[in-house]
Amino acid sequence: MSGLYVPLAGPDGTRTDHAENVLAPNPSEMTLEGTNTWVIGTTDVVVVDPGPDDEAHLRRVAEHVGRRRVTAILLTHGHHDHSGGAKRFAELVGAPVRALDPRHRLGDEGLSDGDVIEVGGLELRVYGTPGHSFDSLCFWLPADRAMLTGDTVLGRGTTVIAHDGNLADYLRTLDLLRATAEELEAETLLPGHGPALADPVFALDGYIVHRRERLDQIRAARASGARTPREIVEIVYADVDTALWPAAEMSVRAQVDYLDRL
Ligand SMILES: [Zn+2]
Repeated sequence: MSGLYVPLAGPDGTRTDHAENVLAPNPSEMTLEGTNTWVIGTTDVVVVDPGPDDEAHLRRVAEHVGRRRVTAILLTHGHHDHSGGAKRFAELVGAPVRALDPRHRLGDEGLSDGDVIEVGGLELRVYGTPGHSFDSLCFWLPADRAMLTGDTVLGRGTTVIAHDGNLADYLRTLDLLRATAEELEAETLLPGHGPALADPVFALDGYIVHRRERLDQIRAARASGARTPREIVEIVYADVDTALWPAAEMSVRAQVDYLDRL
């Protein structure tokens, strides 16, 4: 560990048998304690989401990897808090960056639904999970019965639908993840922010119910006369810290679009 780095409280160091989190120091309302950078493997490793372009963090991840070889850097999606440090980290460890969006790749290989990444005898299976963003992916680590969920499912609170996301896709993704978690007997969700979740089907059910309730609340707010996303936020998110209202407004916009297209 770097002498300069002060470990933060929260999910730093969270681990399963073959995955360990090195928490990035970028806490905020949107990123919770910060971005979770997952190091996966034993002799060889892959690093999922190097996080923001923060030299101290990237060096700490490299130190954590130690003498092991990084065979690839994988991105759950291209949002800056996950991908901003990818190029610099690639330089530090000499590994390619694989992502669904070609703009975020470094090297020849992409990443998409159905891909199987092999690393030192372990497998990571890639699931296309659009919704939070158009390019969101989840990674299933069968050895640990763990699903890495990026921003599709967070360790606490709920995910927003970003400007490059889509709620209809997101609802389909939640159903797919729930069915997959049940079928694969998943034991853990390893999110892009916040703590690991121990009961994947329960967590996903919570997300699905929450989404339905929010949509019902938005229908009701509109029925009572709210027109703009801001007016809807003032009603539906009245009990939520106003610091979160800009994010809520983005989410409301996505939900209004969705309802208007039904
Ligand atoms: Zn994101």
